[in-house]
Amino acid sequence: MSNYVVTPPPVVTIPIHGSDDLFPVNRIFCIGRNYHAHAAEMGTEVERGNPFYFTKSPTTLVMAEGDVAYATRTSDYHFEMEIVVALDKGGSNISIADAHSHIYGAAAGVDMTRRDLQNMAKEKRRPWDTSKDVEQSAVITPLRRMAEVPSITEGRIHLETNGEIRQDADLSDMVWSVAEMISDLSELYTLQPGDIIYGGTPSGVGAVQRGDIITGGIDGIDNFEFKIV
Ligand code: MN
Repeated sequence: MSNYVVTPPPVVTIPIHGSDDLFPVNRIFCIGRNYHAHAAEMGTEVERGNPFYFTKSPTTLVMAEGDVAYATRTSDYHFEMEIVVALDKGGSNISIADAHSHIYGAAAGVDMTRRDLQNMAKEKRRPWDTSKDVEQSAVITPLRRMAEVPSITEGRIHLETNGEIRQDADLSDMVWSVAEMISDLSELYTLQPGDIIYGGTPSGVGAVQRGDIITGGIDGIDNFEFKIV
């Protein structure tokens, strides 16, 4: 019998509202440029029919409460408020019509980004890993089960820094709906139970500073408050 030569990493989990159960996380997919106004503020435009994705490691997850660490090696650490959905059923070539039956629950999330490194990566045609796959950058609330979520296709999505509204939009502004993203991703990957998807951010992204209080939420899903330290 073989032994592990280092201790295996723990299973990363997300708590579930109103339950002691935990959702074990397999992969984190994120979509880029999913709101027209955000694509515009990034100096680009949405290419309808050509969505693109990046990933974060499950170890980047951190709960949207208490303290969240400012990342190392950046002086332009940005918030991106996003809806997150968690899959309890996997598959390939999932139809748009069937996609919602694969979702266990939804959460409010923030895709924290080293914008300075991302801008350099874009300029030099380098990968985004060090700008996106950042420790404590996949901020998330507990999951709310789909039966208790009124909608993932409409509802206010917003974020404030120190009480000032910075992002304020509606899920109906998303270019690719959650169902369309699941269907499209399932052609690129065999999706697995435990995969979660960050749905892209509206306009208004900006930098945080140490000491900032970040609040936000999505109607019918969750609200949060955490501090950047
Ligand atoms: Mn994002």
